This record gives sequence, structure tokens and C-alpha cells, in this order.
Amino acid sequence: MKVKLILPSLTEAKSAFWRPIKYSLFPPIGLGTLAAFLDKDDEIDLQDQHVEELNLNDSPDLVLIQVYITNAKRAYSIAKLYRDRGIFVALGGLHVTALPDEAEKFADAIFIGPAEQTFPDFIKDFKSKSPKKRYISTSGRTLQNIPPIRRDLIKRDKYLVPNSLVISRGCPHHCNFCYKDAFYQGGISYYTYRVDEILTEISRLPGRHLYFLDDHLFGNPKFATELFEGMRGMKRVFQGAATVKSILEGDLIEKAAEAGLRSLFVGFETFSPENLKQSNKSQNLKLDYERAAQRLHDLGIMINGSFVFGLDDDKSDVFKRTVDWGIRNAITTATYHILTPYPGTRLYNSMVKSGRIITNDWDLYDTRHVVYETIGLSKEELETGYWWSYKEFYKWNNIFKASFSHDTFKHQMKHLFYTGGWKKFEEVWNVLIKIGGLNKMLPILELLLSDIENNSDIEQLETTPPNYNITLKSYTSNESVSEVAK
Ligand code: SF4
Repeated sequence: MKVKLILPSLTEAKSAFWRPIKYSLFPPIGLGTLAAFLDKDDEIDLQDQHVEELNLNDSPDLVLIQVYITNAKRAYSIAKLYRDRGIFVALGGLHVTALPDEAEKFADAIFIGPAEQTFPDFIKDFKSKSPKKRYISTSGRTLQNIPPIRRDLIKRDKYLVPNSLVISRGCPHHCNFCYKDAFYQGGISYYTYRVDEILTEISRLPGRHLYFLDDHLFGNPKFATELFEGMRGMKRVFQGAATVKSILEGDLIEKAAEAGLRSLFVGFETFSPENLKQSNKSQNLKLDYERAAQRLHDLGIMINGSFVFGLDDDKSDVFKRTVDWGIRNAITTATYHILTPYPGTRLYNSMVKSGRIITNDWDLYDTRHVVYETIGLSKEELETGYWWSYKEFYKWNNIFKASFSHDTFKHQMKHLFYTGGWKKFEEVWNVLIKIGGLNKMLPILELLLSDIENNSDIEQLETTPPNYNITLKSYTSNESVSEVAK
């Protein structure tokens, strides 16, 4: 059987305004996970439109498309193209689960909720020519003993972070603006792989760097403790995401640092208790954000702080206060969002009820546009303030200010190179993407994420320098700098 798996690009990823590197970070491991349920002799083609031109002239027996809100239009048009040729198309993902009635119009079958349990049933039905229209995940969700992800289908050289992992599903919290509760409705909403299976998977991955894409890596402290203990001595460096609360409580963060945690995505979101209550983000209420930041600095863990603008208690001073806080507390990188009420979430439902949703153009639900009636700020103030915050935080003088507020020279340099490298060398990233040399940057990323107390990481890099020859050759033989950098 020939199976085509497609991740259509997000609308914003193809816009001239957005940064291509942001969309060349992580491979579509969700599709790779589903591919593992197919037969060994099935012919599988996995394509990610963020990093390659889609070949839509083929004739597979089955097409599976992963749908997010801002790739929905593109996903539906790809689905139509195949269905017009009589090819069976199945759709799944967050947006399909949020709006199954909409998605169903463009598909022969849809998956609602996580698909690890329903996908094998679907394949059986498909092969016996009796597929159902809807496959709904409810009971029996588990990640234990499922086949290992088909990493052989992933084009590693097209991604900066090919060693991405997702070792859990969901999260123990219930924020109003988050997809999580809608996606996992009808069954358990937080579960993990077995630690021994994760350690085996890690040992299969080349290089040192890992990125855990889980919503909350510390969501189950017992599981996380076992994982970090198992990883100690594996000489890995890794990045992940966790809540402020989990950083402040107990000694999990120290265990993570000992296992190789070097950078953490932290959902600070807002400083306003009223906003936290509106978001049902009670886990952040009354917590000392500055102490959390300091604890991470003391362990040499860089911080990617996430902040949301546009909650009802935000006033026009929110942008400057948030940016100043990030610089003062030496946040390494900041991710700002305009509040976005995704369909299916409690936030969306309450805004629909109160008549505050102003558009259902899903392409605008990209956290850069205002799609609802604002309260404390005007729509224009919110969009202008959002762009101002990015520009301000990443000005060189502010990068220097944040970098030099660390205590040690090594920490200062790491901050400076990591933030500067990420935000200030767009054209270099564009060239690397164009010539397919992104993963050649991994040793540099690994160096930046190395233990600031441990020089052996630097020595190791010096003895195994990255191979830039292929990169340089294909670059010089193909295109001029200005063409590539456009
Ligand atoms: S903590 Fe993060 S992943 Fe969990 S419910 Fe809140 S926003 Fe969603």
C-alpha cells in the first residue's frame, strides 16, 4: 500500500514577514509516530511543506494530513485535490478535533483527539474497505508499548533540531486559552511513555542535543525524576518546557540540570492576577517569577519566556512592563503572543457567548492578529504593542544589557551568542535553509547549550568540528548571496 503523510505549512510560515528558520526547527514527529503503525512493506512518503515543495502529482492509496488552525485552508485544498482524483483522504490534528463538522466536509475520514489508539483500527477498516467516517479517541489511551517512531522517514538535514521528542501527551493543568482540554476530551488528558522506552529512543539518536516538545516536561514529578536519573551520564544536552510552579517546587529542576537541561521554555504569560484568573492559570497565581528566573540562572539554564498580551486586565503599559521585566531578569529569548481564542477552547466559547469574536478567518488565528473585541486596549494598541515588544526586546543594546546582568563571563557570552545568533543573523539562517545545511549547525548549538562549569564540552567541539564543506560547496555552486538571502 502507498501512503502519503503531509504536514501542510502554516499560513504564516509562507509569508514574507515571518522568519523561515522558525518553521525549520522541528520535524513532524506526530506523523512519524502514526507511520510506525503501518506495515513494514507499505510505501510511505512523509512530506513537510515547511521545508520542501510538496509533490501532489502522485497517486497513493491513502493520504493523511495533519491540520492546525492556520494551515487548515491549505490542508483542505490539498485534500480536495486528492479526493477529486478518487484518492482516500483522512484528516487529523488539533483543528480537526476542535471543528470536526468543518473538517469532515473535506475528508473521507477524520480523527478526533490523539490518534495512537484509533489509527490501527482505521488501517484495519481501510484495508477491509469499510472505513468509518469518524475515529474518536476516548478510553484506552496509552503510549506504552507502541511501535517506535519512524525516524527513517524524517529528512534530518532539513531541520535545525532533528532530535525532537514528545514523551507525553497533554498536561495536568487546564488553562482556558489552551487546546488541551478540548483535544483530550473523553479520556485521560495527561499520560507518558515508559521511561525505559524513552531512554532506548534517546540512545538511538545521534549527536548530543535533544529537544523535548512536551507541553510540560515536569508535569509528573515521579516520571520526570526517573527520566532525569536515567539520563544522567548519557552526556546529552536538552531543551524543554515547564511551568513556573514546577521550577520553584522541590529539586526537580536541579535533577533536570544534572541530566543536561540547558534551556527551558517557561509560560510566564502575564503578571496580572486578574488575567491569571481569567485564564484559569491558577498554577501561576502568587508565584515569584523573579525567583524562578534566578533559580534557572543559578543552574545555568537559559530561559525562553512566553508572554501573552490582550487579556482583559492588560492596559497600554503592559508591553513596556513585560519587555523591561524580561531584560531585567536576563530572559534569553522572549516569545510574545496576542491572546488567541482557538475554537474548541473555553476562552473561545465564552467569547462567542459574549459576542466578542470578530472573525472566523482561521488564517488570522496566528497569535499575531487580534480576532476578538478587546477590553483594556484597543485592537490597534494591541497589535502595535505586540510588534513593538519584539523589536524592543531584541535590540542589540537590550540583548547586551540582559546578557551582562549574569554573574559569570561564560554565562554572559552564552546568552549573547544564543540570543544574537537566533535573532540577528536571519540571512545566514536563510542561506542554510536554502542549501539544506541546517543540521550542520548542531555542534554550535550543542556548544552554546554546554554546561557553563564544564570545559570538556568545548574541548569536544574543538576535536570534532562541524563539516561545512558540503554547505559551502552547494552554496557557491548554486546561487549568489543576494539571491539566497531574499
Ligand atoms: S500549562 Fe500549558 S499546556 Fe498545560 S493547560 Fe496550560 S497552556 Fe496548556
